[in-house]
Amino acid sequence: MTDTVTALRLLGSEAIDPFDPKGPLTRNLAVERVRVGEPGPGEVLVEPLFVGVCGSDGSASLGKSNFSWVKRPRTIGHECSVRIVAFGPGAEGYGGLKAGDVVCPVPMRGCGDPRCRGCRNGRWNYCRRKQILGFHRDGALAQRMVLEVDRCVPLRAGLTALQGAVVEPLSVVAQGVLRKCTIRPGMDVVVTGCGIMGLIAAELCKSAGARVAVTGIERDREVRLKLAQERGFTPIVIGPGETLHEKLKAGVEALDGTRFGDDFEGGLVDALIECSGAPQALATAGLGVHLEGQICVIATYPSSVPFEATAFTRSGQVMSGVMGSSREDFETAMLLIERGAFAIEPYAQVYAFDRVLEAMDDSMAARTPKAIMAVNGRA
Ligand SMILES: [Zn+2]
Ligand SMILES: [Zn+2]
Repeated sequence: MTDTVTALRLLGSEAIDPFDPKGPLTRNLAVERVRVGEPGPGEVLVEPLFVGVCGSDGSASLGKSNFSWVKRPRTIGHECSVRIVAFGPGAEGYGGLKAGDVVCPVPMRGCGDPRCRGCRNGRWNYCRRKQILGFHRDGALAQRMVLEVDRCVPLRAGLTALQGAVVEPLSVVAQGVLRKCTIRPGMDVVVTGCGIMGLIAAELCKSAGARVAVTGIERDREVRLKLAQERGFTPIVIGPGETLHEKLKAGVEALDGTRFGDDFEGGLVDALIECSGAPQALATAGLGVHLEGQICVIATYPSSVPFEATAFTRSGQVMSGVMGSSREDFETAMLLIERGAFAIEPYAQVYAFDRVLEAMDDSMAARTPKAIMAVNGRA
């Protein structure tokens, strides 16, 4: 039953600067025909329906150093809804699943060793030996994929396959905003970075009752920050050499015409959610946040970040990191979509699969808030 299918392959690791293109941004990528084998023991064969392009797919494709560990060639893609086609030996009947079911795979799978704390707690994302779909093994940007059956979380009844493709990024942000932070009505929260993780974080903070500002750079003004403003978030453009805390101190006008942040405290905010991946944004994050305020770090960084450690100690602030998500976070994310706490529709731009290179290019150049590939799903 070995099949040849079309897939998006990560081939090269050349460092590409998206701000200074010397050729197509997609030159580490190629669409190729690849063989997809039969599902092995404990595995399933699936057809990806909708697959989101993640910032990490972009980072790996731009040859960023935080993804240098990914072996090439590799079929990328891990934010997906998929339909089960066939079961490998021993996978039949896992969790009541049957052929034709639509599921969302958890990209991070733990080692399963009973001595491993993360795995014992059912938190595969905090296993140090975890294997990530689309990076450690071939992922979802292909017409067929083989994966371990125990990654599969059934799509909640009533949700569409398109919504299923956003469960993974939503689950990561929900873990950060709702599990690691305490966001309450009346708070002022700044989300740094207006990629989709930042925009999802902004939506969840808004749903929790906070007033939200979102930062971006000049090139974000036309698409991502414009959309942020339409969604009710105060846009803040950070120019070259500028910092958020200085802008807050100088006074940022919220959409309601009042000052954003604490008027008495120089515009300080209750919480900052770091989704930009800019070392400078994290290095200075605490300076824009109240004493005993919260900093949640969802991004990763291409280099080490200088840090005013003593100032941090004396601030009494709480800083939390977020890595991936677990099955439990998936269930939370599906519930959030069902209850209307988050909707992907204002953000999704759906592309037919034969336009996958164009979608990757648009994502890396920040021309779209969220590219979702209709691999086998209807666009
Ligand atoms: Zn992702
Ligand atoms: Zn483990």
